[in-house]
Amino acid sequence: MAAQTRELDFSDFPPGTVTEYTTLVCLACIFDIFTKQLGLAPRSAYSEIKRYAPSIQELTSRTAVRPFFDSGDRHPRCPYCDAAKRWHARLDTCAIEGGKTTDAPRRALFKLLQKKGERFQVLELKSNRREAFFDWLDTLRISMEFSSSDWLIESTRAYLERREPKTEWETTFTAVRAVRPSSRLSEGWELDGNRLFLAPDLYNEVLLVQYLVSRSQEHGGRTLEGRLTLMELIRRIRRGGYLNSHGISTTDQFEILDRLVDEVAGSGNLKLYYVVDRREFLEKVKAVYASYA
Ligand SMILES: [Zn+2]
Repeated sequence: MAAQTRELDFSDFPPGTVTEYTTLVCLACIFDIFTKQLGLAPRSAYSEIKRYAPSIQELTSRTAVRPFFDSGDRHPRCPYCDAAKRWHARLDTCAIEGGKTTDAPRRALFKLLQKKGERFQVLELKSNRREAFFDWLDTLRISMEFSSSDWLIESTRAYLERREPKTEWETTFTAVRAVRPSSRLSEGWELDGNRLFLAPDLYNEVLLVQYLVSRSQEHGGRTLEGRLTLMELIRRIRRGGYLNSHGISTTDQFEILDRLVDEVAGSGNLKLYYVVDRREFLEKVKAVYASYA
């Protein structure tokens, strides 16, 4: 396991630019499709399956469909055919946001992976900043422990890492126990003991991110300012002068939210690069075929 992860080293990438997905695929289901439904002999099924390249949608969807499934169990069973663990293979996928800060480490990584042949698959997909932002939010939501209040500080850090990837946030945040807005600052942030002060605009953007990560239909979102409905959040942001200074003059709250997301997510196109780790898949396919033949 340690040797496996070492090969895919993302430590040269700025935080927040790589999203990881993992899914399980049931090989019993796949063999079943190829041998019973398509009538292939095990040998031909084996060579077809080895070449099988799932789509990005299948690999990264938060709701898996057959033959894919997600499970946090140590010994999961296939939800479709009840096959045990030895029939399952894990497929890990990493999405890298294209851009100036990731170009160099991405090229270096891909050069390395090229030598590994079929064990890694690299795919490119056109996307945009808004979509990438929502993917990032999704990942953030999954990693947050909402029952502990630490998540308010952790989500602040995650947003600052995304916004200013060059700053050493890890060191800065070791001391941080509280995050506050500061009207003395016109932009940026300042650390004072264990308190992190943010300029009003930046602080409001953090509130927006926290709202989006934690919002639920009935109760609004949870933020450093407590639980806020969309209306309360917008009122706050308006009071801070953010809407004025960003030229947002509409009064419809959903349009305002839309414009705020544009400000925080950025606009324009973006390339996403996917790296699919096929090693476990290929190993398991081989083992499963051996038990068939
Ligand atoms: Zn199955």
